[in-house]
Amino acid sequence: AISVVAAEAPAAQAAFNTPGEKGEKYQFQTEVARLMNIVINSLYKTPEIFLRELISNGSDALDKIRFKSLTDPTALESNPNLNVTIALHKDQRVITITDTGIGMTKEDLQKNLGTIAKSGTSEFLDTLSGDKADMDLIGKFGVGFYSVFLVADKVRVTSKNNNDDQYIWESTAVDDFTIAKDPAGNTLGRGTQIAIHLKEDQDQYLEDARIKELVTKYSEFINFPIYLRQTKT
Ligand code: ADP
Ligand code: MG
Repeated sequence: AISVVAAEAPAAQAAFNTPGEKGEKYQFQTEVARLMNIVINSLYKTPEIFLRELISNGSDALDKIRFKSLTDPTALESNPNLNVTIALHKDQRVITITDTGIGMTKEDLQKNLGTIAKSGTSEFLDTLSGDKADMDLIGKFGVGFYSVFLVADKVRVTSKNNNDDQYIWESTAVDDFTIAKDPAGNTLGRGTQIAIHLKEDQDQYLEDARIKELVTKYSEFINFPIYLRQTKT
């Protein structure tokens, strides 16, 4: 279930106002570029699924740190809270989804958000003809993180894993992405914040009611609290 909170949720940085050009450039793996094209072309009628995918990734990351803490109780010291917080920044047209999960090192960001680890992806992509039945297939396959580009023209992922400094991954989905050490230092404690700058026609995701509706629809069985940070207006 989703609860609306005022103060206890972490303040999101949101703004796309730091490195950019200073980040190191990386190319997306060819399969990623192919998958992104397929996702954009086949799921454009249900862009709302991006929220389900991102909350599910946050929940997976929370499971991972909780599991790790069973053998290493100090793992949680970097942030004892386990939750997902959604914040809407209407003025910037940005939505942030922050989890206090395991977080990603620089290497994780490069690998997990730049390649497709799943074996058989290339073969799977080859079988798609582009008709309606394929949408179900794609859904089952799990479009994952890259579905964020259904609604975003720019995405910034800030992440802090216990074994590395805080890093920023950023992309506009075209060809490449950048990774830079966060000049702000460790602001998350531990976890990951996805900042989504919405495309022109996707303003609906700045509405509290719409977000609550989607969380209720898709993320009812998430085992961690999901907070919607109350907007002032
Ligand atoms: P899947 O969840 O099926 O593995 P995704 O495309 O959704 O595929 O995510 C790719 C990978 O990126 C995940 O397996 C995980 O390693 C990493 N990842 C994505 N989001 C997060 C997050 N919020 N916290 C930590 N790792 C993440
Ligand atoms: Mg996923």
